[in-house]
Amino acid sequence: MSRRRQVYEGKGKVLFEGPEPGTLVQYFKDDATAFNAQKRGVITGKGVINNRISEFLMTRIAEMGIPTHFVRRLNMREQLVKEVEIIPVEVVVRNIAAGSFTKRMGVPEGTALPRSIVEFFYKSDELDDPLITEEHVTAFGWANPQEIDEMVSMALRINDIMSGLFYGVGIRLIDFKVEFGRHYQGDEVRTILADEISPDSCRFWDIQTNDKLDKDRFRRDMGGAEEAYQEVARRLGILPEGGPRDMKGPEVMQ
Ligand code: UDP
Repeated sequence: MSRRRQVYEGKGKVLFEGPEPGTLVQYFKDDATAFNAQKRGVITGKGVINNRISEFLMTRIAEMGIPTHFVRRLNMREQLVKEVEIIPVEVVVRNIAAGSFTKRMGVPEGTALPRSIVEFFYKSDELDDPLITEEHVTAFGWANPQEIDEMVSMALRINDIMSGLFYGVGIRLIDFKVEFGRHYQGDEVRTILADEISPDSCRFWDIQTNDKLDKDRFRRDMGGAEEAYQEVARRLGILPEGGPRDMKGPEVMQ
């Protein structure tokens, strides 16, 4: 498939060496996994849509002054990003109770939280991404206190930006997960937003109907995952040219 050297293959994406040092090419697959990859499947066209949605959101977020790894989209399934050292902590922001939170805290799905809640999970497939506290993060050296502060403040700003943006297109942002990385430039190191932001990593509910427009459709075998991802892109005004029929996208590498 590729002329470039593969650096990493994850569940939903592949990373290749980029054209210049310090860059990577992020390739979005249609593969979908849930429950720590115990459930596997394909959401046709997901890679093409997530490439677009992540491009769109990272661009809006950067415009608001938050540094991100996104450089530019290369083609239907690939984007150029800055190479970072990923901080092995998933930062989750929740506005409404859903998913693992409902079971852990005994709060029914759909309950508005008294305020946005930030949680940390340790990125570890073997351990099933356990919930952790700042104590674990600093004690094990996954991030220092300054990096934790930066991740929390950026995650909360991203929540405000995205909540407003999606509200404007009739979608409620229930919760989402972001990842950050260390970007080294000479002697300097900066914490920047990395990975992707898409219906794979967010919960989106239609404001009118509460219909789920995200990966929960796949996780819960609800059907209509392809259409839900397309609907998010359509509302953001970024459905790929040619519409859903064009969604498979070229497999070629730029
Ligand atoms: N999430 C994610 N990757 C993970 C775990 C969670 O992107 O490995 C996202 C998920 O899509 C949701 C939010 O983080 O938007 C909170 O997920 P939760 O802890 O409720 O986990 P889940 O119920 O999805 O297992």
